[in-house]
Amino acid sequence: MKISLDSRDRELPSNRSAVRVPSSPILLVHAAQLLTLRGDSGARRGAQLRELAIIEDGAVLTADGKIVAVEATDQVSRHELARNAEEIDCSHNVVLPGFVDSHTHPAFTTPRLIDFEKRIDGASYEDIAAAGGGIRSSLRGVRESSRDELTSHIVGALEEMAVHGTTTAEAKSGYGLSVEAELKSLEAVREAARQWPGTVVPTLLGAHVVPPEFHDNREEYVRIVCEEMMPAAAKGNLAEFVDVFCERGAFTMEQAQRILRTAVRHQLGVRAHVCQLTPADLGSLLEFHPASLDHMDFVRDEDIAALAKADTVATLLPAANYFLGLQSFPPARKLIDSGVAVALATDYNPGTAPTTSMPFVLSAACTHMKMSPAEAISAATYNGACALRLQSRKGSLEAGKDADIAIFDATDYRELSYWFGVNRCRQSIAKGTWGSGR
Ligand SMILES: [Zn+2]
Repeated sequence: MKISLDSRDRELPSNRSAVRVPSSPILLVHAAQLLTLRGDSGARRGAQLRELAIIEDGAVLTADGKIVAVEATDQVSRHELARNAEEIDCSHNVVLPGFVDSHTHPAFTTPRLIDFEKRIDGASYEDIAAAGGGIRSSLRGVRESSRDELTSHIVGALEEMAVHGTTTAEAKSGYGLSVEAELKSLEAVREAARQWPGTVVPTLLGAHVVPPEFHDNREEYVRIVCEEMMPAAAKGNLAEFVDVFCERGAFTMEQAQRILRTAVRHQLGVRAHVCQLTPADLGSLLEFHPASLDHMDFVRDEDIAALAKADTVATLLPAANYFLGLQSFPPARKLIDSGVAVALATDYNPGTAPTTSMPFVLSAACTHMKMSPAEAISAATYNGACALRLQSRKGSLEAGKDADIAIFDATDYRELSYWFGVNRCRQSIAKGTWGSGR
């Protein structure tokens, strides 16, 4: 059965609340470049980031949500399951693993346009926060929304991500900042995950900032995060990770350690926002074996060697630097050349990175952080999967892994970070199910 991508577009279900089941076997053939990224078991470092394991005239066969075969087209076409598969010609396409966006904040309701204008007029991130803008200004929207309203905002963001080639997304709470509103946010993330064919990894970010009602008693808020919020999230199976914003104006290193220690006790994975605005002692966080440390703009030289030896991924978020109009970007070259495992993610959020586009992030990584196009792709797929500890299922095209695939309207992988401000993702496939196309 042969169908074109264009005719397939029109058949896609538009009902957002539909429960989708994996479609019949799919056979992608004649890919101009099939980027398999196969061959690793740990996060990619140094020169490994440039190895995309490309097959020209490549094919991928999927069935029951999994990848069955990945090889040259003439080999895969002979597979028994290929006979009944939907066959898609990809001769004008680059085919790669779906992006793993390992750092996003989708549980919010409204854009922050006043902050946006203030910043254009010269206010800094911290000026805006001090004037009651920033993260705290998203609180009211989330606290006053129903779970269903929040869910529909999150689903909208996830669908937009899929349009840009993302098939796995981490999703943080963090704009409720009360036990009730954080749990509601995580429930909305869970419900949104049910409505999206891709994979969602929920993270509790109750320790985003201290909410205004605890300004004079910040310790009490940390106690609530540790003794009320986290146990409830763990008991309800609502989060896989706990995150903390360890930064001047947010949480101190000592508070961050207490929060992560409690998370480990609840058998939750840990990650942290750190070194976005100021340097920090990363050794104090590495002792908790975080899956990732994110931002890292101000990482200290003395911490880089320790990071290179750790399992922890450094997740870089250049869309935030772009949107804040900063001249400096995270030191990707220094990290990569020192052997640190680096991932790229959007940081999708209403204050500093209102974008769901991983291709935009690739562009920013290449132009502003001097990552090569190949390094950027590895960082946005395989190493993103490592940042979520999902590399056994995600991040490369290999038999047995989830059928998470992005199809780009390009014939050379370097085009993915070359074109910007336009979307050249033609279609994504998540667990063998057609996602949104452009
Ligand atoms: Zn963030």
